[in-house]
Amino acid sequence: MKVYISVDMEGIGGVSHSAPTERGDAGYPTAVALMVGEANAAVDGAFAAGATEVLVNDSHGQMFNLPPEDLDPRATLLQGQKPWSMVAGAGPGAGFAVALFVGYHTRAGHPTGTIAHTYSGAPTLTALNGRPVNEAGINALALGAWGVPVGLVCGDDQLAIETEALFPWAERVVVKTAVGRRAAASVHPSLARGRVRAGAEAAVRRASAGKLELFDPGRPIVLEAEYRHALEADYAALVPGAERYGDRGVRATTDDPIVAYRTFLVGVRLAGLAA
Ligand SMILES: [Zn+2]
Repeated sequence: MKVYISVDMEGIGGVSHSAPTERGDAGYPTAVALMVGEANAAVDGAFAAGATEVLVNDSHGQMFNLPPEDLDPRATLLQGQKPWSMVAGAGPGAGFAVALFVGYHTRAGHPTGTIAHTYSGAPTLTALNGRPVNEAGINALALGAWGVPVGLVCGDDQLAIETEALFPWAERVVVKTAVGRRAAASVHPSLARGRVRAGAEAAVRRASAGKLELFDPGRPIVLEAEYRHALEADYAALVPGAERYGDRGVRATTDDPIVAYRTFLVGVRLAGLAA
């Protein structure tokens, strides 16, 4: 059984402020060590539940955070400037039975979620079919199209609430309580890792038992992003098929989840050029 693990940093237990999530900050090595700890806990849980192959996709920032030497040697590590970003390597046709999200966080604009954002600092709000959506939901659009169900989402308590609404079949692991945009109350890393390991094991067991569902928001898919200023939105709306709405919004309307995902991802990248 092949298991896919996407690891972000802002939702890792012990990470409460955005500063140490950035390369070059004095706290970055500590944040990386915490990220490695939860990534390895997920890998260990996956193998305990019968995984035969695990791919870890380093999904934060420039996407080469995890020191290869420190990762569980049973896992393969995907890093670097990946066109498909947080879902790189998961499909199509890659044959993963389940996806596990570790270190994830709430959507852009969330009132209390710690380091809440969606893909970059540019979107102020992201919505799927009229409801606010986070990175987990946007990534699940692509994964669902590739036949990979989401089995586990780890992060703060507010993310667990978002997860329940999106994927009620998925395991939810809480490693910290969101106190606000740049504050969280975290359990000790050893406890966080224990929870992540148990969640990963339970998720992979659920996958083997056929108890997970593919994420499918219905048709048509309407994926929207509102940006900080109009130029970012103008750039993002250059993507073929995208349309501007409201003051700073860009919308994709399509029956193809992969087109929706690509339109959003390219839009965010173009918006980054207008910063
Ligand atoms: Zn993220």
